[in-house]
Amino acid sequence: MIIAIDGPSGAGKSTVAKILAKRLGFLYIDTGAMYRALTLKVLKNNIDINDKEKIIQLARNTQIDLKNDPEGNLLVCLDGQDVSLQIRQPQITRFVSEIARIKEVRQVMLDLQRKLGRKRDAVLDGRDIGTVVFPDAEKKFYIDADFKERLRRRYKELRELGYKVTLEDVESDLKNRDKIDSTREFAPLRKAEDAVYIDTTQMSIEEVVNKILESLSF
Ligand code: C5P
Repeated sequence: MIIAIDGPSGAGKSTVAKILAKRLGFLYIDTGAMYRALTLKVLKNNIDINDKEKIIQLARNTQIDLKNDPEGNLLVCLDGQDVSLQIRQPQITRFVSEIARIKEVRQVMLDLQRKLGRKRDAVLDGRDIGTVVFPDAEKKFYIDADFKERLRRRYKELRELGYKVTLEDVESDLKNRDKIDSTREFAPLRKAEDAVYIDTTQMSIEEVVNKILESLSF
């Protein structure tokens, strides 16, 4: 079974998807982490962010693995190295959407995501899971929240990770990513017609998880 969870940054997708996967004993696949891992490699190799050809070549020659540890935490491996923490750096966040808009990069990730999702029951979170990656997913959710609330959550999350970001930095990053992710030509962020829409602005994580579990009816 595939549970698809899409939505914009800061809506609470990953936290909810992770808890849900753990409760159900499903594999948790954070597809954003894959785009982030590739972005890390692009930056590490000093590749110009506008050099599409080089980025595509790199994507085709990169090994990205996602593993769940016994606590349900996600381990992201890039060419065999654990990069779980590095990929959360604001520097990666700033450039990831530019990389994720490239069609051929998306194709590489799509193949990988489908391969992982077909292995066993899984919860996938991202931007195009219910629309493109698994349009036949048994259950689809679109998780959203007001911009102000998403900004508050992202800021809090980054501060807790120890990054000295300002609210203005996070605001401009969120706006930029929202714009690129929802207007790009290939697989833009969109609610699938058959996805259940959940506005989490006034909800706690636990409430969102319970709402999803109720609608799964098992
Ligand atoms: O979910 P997260 O914020 O980590 O995703 C980082 C970026 O990766 C998004 O802003 C988006 O540009 C890209 N992404 C995507 N498709 C997905 C998941 C993430 O384009 N399925």
